[in-house]
Amino acid sequence: MTQTLDVAQFPAVWHDLTGQSASVAQLHRAAQQEAPTHAWLFTGPPGSGRSTAARAFAQALQCENPDPAQRGCSICPTCLTIASGTHPDVKVMATEKVNYGIDEIRDLIGLAQDRPATARWRIFVMEDADRMTERATNVLLKAIEEPPPRTIWMLCAPSPADVLITIRSRTRKISLTIPSAESVARLLTERDGLDPEMALFAARASQSHVGVARWLASNPEARARREQIVSLPLRVGSTSQAMAEAADLIQITQQEATASAEERNTAERVRLLHSLGLSEDDTVPPKLRHHVKRLEEEQTARNRRSVHDALDKAMIDLIGLFRDVLAVQLGTDAELINEHLRDQIIGYARQGTSQHTLAAIDAIGQARTRLTSNVPPQLAVEAMLLAFVPRR
Ligand SMILES: [Zn+2]
Repeated sequence: MTQTLDVAQFPAVWHDLTGQSASVAQLHRAAQQEAPTHAWLFTGPPGSGRSTAARAFAQALQCENPDPAQRGCSICPTCLTIASGTHPDVKVMATEKVNYGIDEIRDLIGLAQDRPATARWRIFVMEDADRMTERATNVLLKAIEEPPPRTIWMLCAPSPADVLITIRSRTRKISLTIPSAESVARLLTERDGLDPEMALFAARASQSHVGVARWLASNPEARARREQIVSLPLRVGSTSQAMAEAADLIQITQQEATASAEERNTAERVRLLHSLGLSEDDTVPPKLRHHVKRLEEEQTARNRRSVHDALDKAMIDLIGLFRDVLAVQLGTDAELINEHLRDQIIGYARQGTSQHTLAAIDAIGQARTRLTSNVPPQLAVEAMLLAFVPRR
């Protein structure tokens, strides 16, 4: 029996946003209007697809399909160049730094004054809009209040509370939710042809993060690394073991960072070449080389952050494991994130109390904070692992 995706009724660019049909319906309608709202705020927890939604909306707004109801076809040159990040009228900003500064925002506003080069609109997608300083936000606010005629702003943040109220009140809000594991599994099965059982395992394990789920479901080494990470608390019986495991954890996350960066960089390169009308083996003609060079620069900047990101992903996996432990200790019969480890989780849960589990979750949160403030990873991880040692 084939189940149909809830978003299958909409044009192709929306199909990744499974479980979000209410938001997709709003955006699809707006993309067909003569004068859509010029400032949007996309909110939703990590993995809910807020930047995916913003990019899809940019594609739908600019798409060349003559039938407005089909905008967001995913196959016209405009849809393709937006997907590969080379469209001159769609700028996506993701900061590698902790904050967007006032100068960066001023530069953007300068660019926003230009008319679109080729498309209907000039679109600015700002990932992590919650990382703007208050001064930078106020500068942006002016631009949003007095919009140049064909400019559309799309800001992304975890929740409306993460941006200043002045921004909140001047933007139209799209709230994304975490899709169910079942709908993520369905997407992976129908779109990527993955085995349904594997897809469901990966969807649960990734806590419904579509990108991570696909990576896990299609990559046995990534699954093996995740398994080592989540089973870590189950192995840590003593302080000395905790110390030994710290080095291992860091090594595993480094391997994960390298592997996932390679996979993503290759996929982006293929997509870029495709949008330039080239295949993977073609030599890039000199006049197109600047596109490839720009992508390579972006990738280098991002690779620097990928170790930190992989370590953070490991911490989220560990929080998931302790949530499972807590569920067992509190006697709820909820589906576990790590259902396949149920027996070991029950065993571990019996060795400690729910207070101990909450303390472990706290310790992970603290380690994540420390990692963003430049504490050496080894120290942050060791301190965290000590909180995993079972205590009655
Ligand atoms: Zn299109």
